[in-house]
Amino acid sequence: MAIDLTAQEFHNEDKAREWLEASRWPSGPYCSHCGSFNVLRMEGMPERQVKGKPHRPGLFHCRDCRGQFTVLTGSVMERSHIPLAKWVMAIRLMTASKKGMSAHQISRMLDLSYKTSWFMCHRIREAMRDPAPKPLGGEGRIVEADEAYHGKRQKPVERSRNAVRKPTKKGRSGPAMKRPIVALVERAGEVRATHMHQVTGKNLREFIDRNADKRSRLNTDESNLYPEIGKSFASHETVHHAAKEYARDDVTTNTVEGFFGIFKRGMIGVYQHCGEQHLQRYLDEFAFRWNNRSKMGVEDIQRAKIACHSMSGKRLTYRRIGGEETSESGAATG
Ligand SMILES: [Zn+2]
Repeated sequence: MAIDLTAQEFHNEDKAREWLEASRWPSGPYCSHCGSFNVLRMEGMPERQVKGKPHRPGLFHCRDCRGQFTVLTGSVMERSHIPLAKWVMAIRLMTASKKGMSAHQISRMLDLSYKTSWFMCHRIREAMRDPAPKPLGGEGRIVEADEAYHGKRQKPVERSRNAVRKPTKKGRSGPAMKRPIVALVERAGEVRATHMHQVTGKNLREFIDRNADKRSRLNTDESNLYPEIGKSFASHETVHHAAKEYARDDVTTNTVEGFFGIFKRGMIGVYQHCGEQHLQRYLDEFAFRWNNRSKMGVEDIQRAKIACHSMSGKRLTYRRIGGEETSESGAATG
């Protein structure tokens, strides 16, 4: 991770705003209300001032809908009182750290209260969420599918007749007490990961139908969940983990297991405690970094800018992130 801590956008509010504007609006500012590019920067325009008061920094006027907005409007940063330079720093840190960055650490590094930092991290995670993921794979491409289990459930699942009984990889405890995660990875491509309350053939099929192109070759382990689903793919090849077979020619699930490995190391080493209601957000965060990794030609700064670009239309209320309705504390801008 290479971050130049002396860069001005980390210390100066105007530079931070410029950085956020350039990242959120790479093709120029557009109206947060109606989408029009026919907008006017109000700052520094005395003839447009109301009652001689200067406009607040970063204010734009839309000539089409006559609305006003700033780079924060309609984004995950809306109504935030955290200094913009701290937002820029937090976005850079979270998008650059392979295993994530905890709210505790951000709180210490940016001198914010833990509560403020916690909300901020969840909002950045929301920016990382891909709102319209495209199906993976295609003709001649390989898509690997696998399940993993992470963390203890708050409530065990009552076993139904259709529930799948499968021990975890290490055979320690059954999935009834663990939170299941399912992921699809395109070889040398992107990942789609989801937390399922229960892994059933039906749930799995829905997820795979939505996220994989059927012209792909499907690679899985020998789990009895996949043969039926595999029939709709160009081909379905399996490795037999029980027989200690992990790869046969180019058939393997090592890539998807690599994703689970990074996710679990991050969750254990960095995040430690994660309520089940938030698990999907962490999966989205790890998927974002995987999908924008340097092997895909995306370097640290660009990854941060992609997250900013994807902030629009994702205003996140406290209620939606599962916290109590409350206001940010510990930081205020002028
Ligand atoms: Zn407008």
